[in-house]
Amino acid sequence: MPDEIDPRLEPIREKEGAALMPDRWKVDYLASMGELSRFYIELKENARLMGTRCPACGSVYFWPRSWCHDCYVDCEWVEMPPRGTITIFGRVDISLSEMRTEVPFYQGGVLLEGARYPVIAILKPADPAVLRAGLPVQAEFLPPEERTGRTRDFYFVPEE
Ligand SMILES: [Zn+2]
Repeated sequence: MPDEIDPRLEPIREKEGAALMPDRWKVDYLASMGELSRFYIELKENARLMGTRCPACGSVYFWPRSWCHDCYVDCEWVEMPPRGTITIFGRVDISLSEMRTEVPFYQGGVLLEGARYPVIAILKPADPAVLRAGLPVQAEFLPPEERTGRTRDFYFVPEE
């Protein structure tokens, strides 16, 4: 915003004997996704939803977990079916700068087939009136040139 005052140019303020220094932080950084890196790479490069399965109890996790919280063993990668059902949903009317979705948009819990837990994801129904818990949905992906390897690269639409 060009008219915005840069706080670093403002004088200090005093409050109860303390000098308060107006300042601004802008922090760009790279966060390693570590053992879960494959999830983000497959999403960006191949539009695949990768989960993990516990070899001991068979639980399938999506979002993926590197280890099973019941068995304390390392999980193995599995490709998830891009289908599931809505568990909860709601309309979002506030804009978040990182969202590429215009407000209002819909968001909900989606339990992928075979997964132990639902995840919160963007819903893009042609007609929002059809949304309900239990509605079968399928994943759709942004085109390759728009995918960034973040979870907003995909969304769910009602299954035909
Ligand atoms: Zn397990």
